[in-house]
Amino acid sequence: MTQRIVSDLQNLGLRSGDTVLVRCAAKAINVETGSPAKALFDSICHTIGPTGTLVALSFTSDFYFWQKQRAAQFPFHSRTKSETGALPQIVLDHPSSVRSKHPTNSFVAIGPNANAIVQGHDESSTSFFPIKNLIDLGGKLLLVGCVDSSPGLSTVHRVQEDLGLADKTLMSRMRGCAVQEGDDIRWFERKDVAGCSAGFGKFYRHYESAGILRTGLVGGAYSIFADAAAAYNVERTILEKDPTVAFCDDPSCTSCGLRTYAPARMTRFFLSVPLKVARRFLG
Ligand SMILES: [Zn+2]
Repeated sequence: MTQRIVSDLQNLGLRSGDTVLVRCAAKAINVETGSPAKALFDSICHTIGPTGTLVALSFTSDFYFWQKQRAAQFPFHSRTKSETGALPQIVLDHPSSVRSKHPTNSFVAIGPNANAIVQGHDESSTSFFPIKNLIDLGGKLLLVGCVDSSPGLSTVHRVQEDLGLADKTLMSRMRGCAVQEGDDIRWFERKDVAGCSAGFGKFYRHYESAGILRTGLVGGAYSIFADAAAAYNVERTILEKDPTVAFCDDPSCTSCGLRTYAPARMTRFFLSVPLKVARRFLG
């Protein structure tokens, strides 16, 4: 714990007893010695105290269905390493953390609300199901150092799921992962595909005009903080009118280009493919 990071978190609005979902780029945080991710973890735990709950995304690999043999070498189980950075791994390694059972998009949490956050999140639920639990618990969202490099609040994904958009993609059922239970390994097929969030920064100005965003530095890293329910309401109002607002600006992006509810974007995607191939050959 560093007192400076604790003060930064308090200035941003984090309080004792908060339930908070944290995403971070730990490298952006300045610490004099030791691991920046550990310093952030300790400082958040100190700020929210024993009545607070820290939540992180402990996502793991997915594969195309024709890669099943390879996928079987990296099955999901409760101890599978996270691919979402140092902070989620610190939470996973903590003896009192609880991890949900969704094979590709597991959430992990520590604190009195941990079970309530991960409850019901498994192979039969959508990838961002726990966001609903977070909202119901009056939870908050914190981004540290990744505001531009990995933009967006995770509530957007949950809005997309609630509006029935997440499985309207040609990628539905194309990808999944192996799930290990004891010696048994089975294939998990993803129906909903949360996909690309590179365009989620477009919501920032809407949060600001709704007056729901707190911004500041945490350990020198630019950070944002918002109430999850308030963020969800802003995003839902926008995406109900135009679900393509959340797309990124790269016409060749597979994730944004294969959404069946956006035929114009899909046309742009398929037109961009021969151009991309040509550029590769022509250097
Ligand atoms: Zn995209």
